[in-house]
Amino acid sequence: MAVARDGTPLERLPGIGPRLGERLGRLGITRVEDLPFHLPLRYEDRSRCVRLGELRPGESVLAEGEITAAEVVAGRRRRLVCRLADGSGSLELVFFHFFGAHRQRLTRGARVRVFGEVRPGPVMLQMVHPEWEVVAADAPPPAGGLTPCYPATEGVTQQQLRRAVTGALESAEAVRDWLPSALVQRQQLPDLATALATVHAPPIEADTRALLEGRHPAVRRLAFEELLAHRLSLLRLRRAHQAARPAPVLAGGEDRHAALLQRLGFALTDAQSRVRREIAADLASEQPTLRLVQGDVGSGKTVVAALAALTAVASGHQAAVMAPTELLAEQHFRNFRDWLEPLGVRVAWVSGRLSAARRRETLAALAEGEAQVVIGTHALFQEGVRFARLGLVVVDEQHRFGVHQRLALRDKGDDGRTQPHQLVMTATPIPRTLAMTAYADLDVSVIDELPPGRQPVTTVAIPDSRRAEVVERVRAACAEGRQAYWVCTLVESSELLEAEAAEATAERLRESLPELRVGLVHGRVKASDKEAVMAAFEAGELDLLVATTVIEVGVNVPNASLMIIENPERLGLAQLHQLRGRVGRGDAQSSCVLLYHGPLTETARARLGVLRESNDGFRIARRDLELRGPGELLGTRQTGALEYRIADLHRDADLIDAVQAEADALLDDYPEAAAALIRRWVGEGERYAQV
Ligand code: ADP
Ligand code: MG
Repeated sequence: MAVARDGTPLERLPGIGPRLGERLGRLGITRVEDLPFHLPLRYEDRSRCVRLGELRPGESVLAEGEITAAEVVAGRRRRLVCRLADGSGSLELVFFHFFGAHRQRLTRGARVRVFGEVRPGPVMLQMVHPEWEVVAADAPPPAGGLTPCYPATEGVTQQQLRRAVTGALESAEAVRDWLPSALVQRQQLPDLATALATVHAPPIEADTRALLEGRHPAVRRLAFEELLAHRLSLLRLRRAHQAARPAPVLAGGEDRHAALLQRLGFALTDAQSRVRREIAADLASEQPTLRLVQGDVGSGKTVVAALAALTAVASGHQAAVMAPTELLAEQHFRNFRDWLEPLGVRVAWVSGRLSAARRRETLAALAEGEAQVVIGTHALFQEGVRFARLGLVVVDEQHRFGVHQRLALRDKGDDGRTQPHQLVMTATPIPRTLAMTAYADLDVSVIDELPPGRQPVTTVAIPDSRRAEVVERVRAACAEGRQAYWVCTLVESSELLEAEAAEATAERLRESLPELRVGLVHGRVKASDKEAVMAAFEAGELDLLVATTVIEVGVNVPNASLMIIENPERLGLAQLHQLRGRVGRGDAQSSCVLLYHGPLTETARARLGVLRESNDGFRIARRDLELRGPGELLGTRQTGALEYRIADLHRDADLIDAVQAEADALLDDYPEAAAALIRRWVGEGERYAQV
């Protein structure tokens, strides 16, 4: 993210002109204040000479030996080649540019100390154009230390970087320690000066591997500070947001709640009740709610959202529920209509595919406040949709939406006096490390319990060479009156190709399973047809549903007990877990077949193994994070928020608790330090994107 950042211009440092300044910009260094946090990629050790017999190609090292041969070799390029030996091995020094001094001093019998990168050569290991000096036989041991080598870019040398960093480290402002000393002591972190000195100029005995791998306290101190700064920035944004406008107080409606719970035919789980209470407390306050409801697939988030919507309606406000796909919006619409209309609540549906007349009618009902609850896709926040009194926005499966879409919907409810409460529901269980950093602006509720009677889904991985066997499984399940899904996936391909693959698969399955009623849905099927197919599957009029990943989220057919997923190796674990969550929703023992195309890579095997072993979405998401990194898990849209300069969410996960514990108090008690830390690490642009 290119953020205009204030700070000290780089040209303030000696030796940096506009050209070098611009090149440093390519490294993300735009101010003097950035330099101290540009950490070395590796260190050159000039503190000791490596014996020639122990040299390894690729290393940059100091070495010493006696010249046993020196000659100018003619050829395509004339060069001076010297052979160095120390009894343990030998090394060739190659100079393409050489002068009188080379020839005079690099002669047989001379003792030289060289520094350079060791490379494989035609005869033996070489150094091309090493730094060199002739030393006496009784020369003192090398006086150098560990020299940092920084990530560089074309036109920027290590020397220039070293000088720039050294210059910046002398700027008191750039390296001012903003962490209160009590905090530093409490967290047992080194102070900033010590941390920076250790990182940029480690003492000879320093554990450079720990430094480079980020396990050293010096680096952890910097990572801590960075995570803290991001957390502070989000907290500050959140406070500003909540202070901007109050939300309407939403409370009451107990009679309707009771009536709905009665109609459901099941009791809420303890976890649902707890989250419901947490939400109710939020809604009853003027402070705008910003709450994330996390719950594994099938944990029953929808009914919790419906109860919140009822509360809004009871207070004379409207509620909007936004779903990521048409399919899911339709399903929510049917649920909400069945649940709420008998209670006298008017539920509307906004879809990109409504006829013009229906659309006009629906929009008028919303604008006049006649429709009290509205369900829709992103069509909800498009032009022309206006609300009379929007009090609550529910965003389902929020990781599918860009944050800006969430904002746009909130803005619709902003009538200049109040803004709506916001509830975000996700079934992608976000590991705490991510939740804290990517969603710090939200309170988090977790539905950590499944409704009673659910059987864990048994998962097996089968190569597609055994496809016929899998087809028989489908036949057997359906013969028992169960239903099955067959999911065709193609990653990084078009909706068109995916649709074609699904059509071909459906055709083949119809041939092999003539006794079954087979339906097909994919992204290219007309909305009304899709709805009809889904309705038929729900009603048990279809046995097998062939689908693309359009069915990934939310679809709920409890009688379906078998799912086949083709090419599972191409999908993320969280996504596979979501897909698998379509079965195991009723009381039958359900299974999921991962029909992979072998041979699998080691990572792919490990990933499918995680899925086989666990039904716990949180655990799976954690493993996914380890195996693939945060960007993949959240989708690329949100990765911008996860690019840290030094911190690494996975490596530094154990710092998160402390960061969280310290952030609030720091913002309250040391606002100036908080502002400075945000400036240092996040920049002034902050992360609007996260509001
Ligand atoms: P998700 O959290 O994945 O959105 P849903 O809200 O779709 O889950 O709920 C999954 C299924 O579980 C639905 O059929 C729903 O009616 C049912 N359900 C929800 N809560 C309970 C409960 N407390 N007891 C039994 N079934 C429930
Ligand atoms: Mg859902």
